[in-house]
Amino acid sequence: MISIREKAKLKDKKILLRLDLNVPLENGKIIDTTRIDKILPTLKFLIKQNSKIIILSHVGRPKGKFVNELTLNPICEDLSKKLSQNVKLITKNINNINNKDLFKNNDEKIIMLENIRFYLEEENNDPEFAKHLASLADIYVNEAFSCSHRSHASIHQISNFLPSYSGLQLDLEVSALKKITSEIKRPITCIIGGSKISTKINVIKNLICKFDNIVIVGGMANNVIKYMGYNIGKSLQEENSDLIIKEIFSLSKKENCKLVYPEDIVVGKDLNGTPQIKELNEISSDEIILDIGPKTINIINNIIDESNTIFWNGPAGYFENPSFANGSIKIAENIIKNNKSNKIYSVAGGGDTVSLLNSLNAVDNFNFVSTAGGAFLEYLEGKELPGIKALN
Ligand code: ADP
Ligand code: MG
Repeated sequence: MISIREKAKLKDKKILLRLDLNVPLENGKIIDTTRIDKILPTLKFLIKQNSKIIILSHVGRPKGKFVNELTLNPICEDLSKKLSQNVKLITKNINNINNKDLFKNNDEKIIMLENIRFYLEEENNDPEFAKHLASLADIYVNEAFSCSHRSHASIHQISNFLPSYSGLQLDLEVSALKKITSEIKRPITCIIGGSKISTKINVIKNLICKFDNIVIVGGMANNVIKYMGYNIGKSLQEENSDLIIKEIFSLSKKENCKLVYPEDIVVGKDLNGTPQIKELNEISSDEIILDIGPKTINIINNIIDESNTIFWNGPAGYFENPSFANGSIKIAENIIKNNKSNKIYSVAGGGDTVSLLNSLNAVDNFNFVSTAGGAFLEYLEGKELPGIKALN
């Protein structure tokens, strides 16, 4: 992996820069700008070299279709403001864009192509699509560590068609995670929550042999609760996950890894509903599990107290509504307390997890905060991420 920092010949070159600007949006407004702020040094570095920059990014999961709410427009505007420089959003279909359409104006230095996941070819890792993207630039830079676990066209395939380098923030994240995972102190606890069940559930299996405790919370825990035979009502869940959960349980026994999942929960009738603490056998069919209960918080906090290292990805509940943020806040507070007295080494990752920590002003109380969620967990698995491999 060669960094743009070591690459002298960026001057006047056209750079295809893959960023992860997948920030949390609510009605077109950005709720947390961490992912934008972190890549500003990279843009400034490239601007200094007089490079022409073509930004590629995705937001959300449009699944290969144009979705109005998932336009990069608000992100483009925020970036323009922060750089005090115009960043032009090109809305023309990427497949019909050619070299002559770009940088027509001399003072046009940074442009952004529309949400790359509006195109099915992106997630299909389509070589023709990647080749076309490559034809627009001289150099490719991966500055999206948090997407590097994906074999997608703008992360993986693209590197077959252009000289490819890593960005400054990607360098930072990889070297920090390398250091952390090589100097790790047991007992190690990994807390996994959030809503991306399909991506993360497979990772858990591979983490069991590495860690002492795995704590499953948030939407991630719903399928486990269902597997235990309880009714989970209208809760977020993944189809056909019983087999993998069965494997997770038997593997954790074999490897002596303690598996922790909620013993009580907080439900609501909808996302804005009144919170109600319940035992697992009290959930009715019209209710949604939206947070972990007080007994569960207690169990998790005891485990944190006994650990030397904590990895955390994924909120414990629907924290966007303060009524269901208690579990996530209590976990964060206890990690911070242990961290302040130097009892644990703590690492958190994930777009929404970082947004939660920001809302608590807690980012500086963690030893390391990664912008990546899924990629962070897959890195912990010991896997070589496709996007990193492509740079090697
Ligand atoms: P990260 O971005 O940190 O990797 P995810 O994207 O996997 O985390 O999940 C974050 C989302 O999960 C948040 O929007 C949060 O509200 C949601 N979430 C957590 N617990 C639940 C739950 N029980 N039901 C529905 N959504 C949940
Ligand atoms: Mg997320």
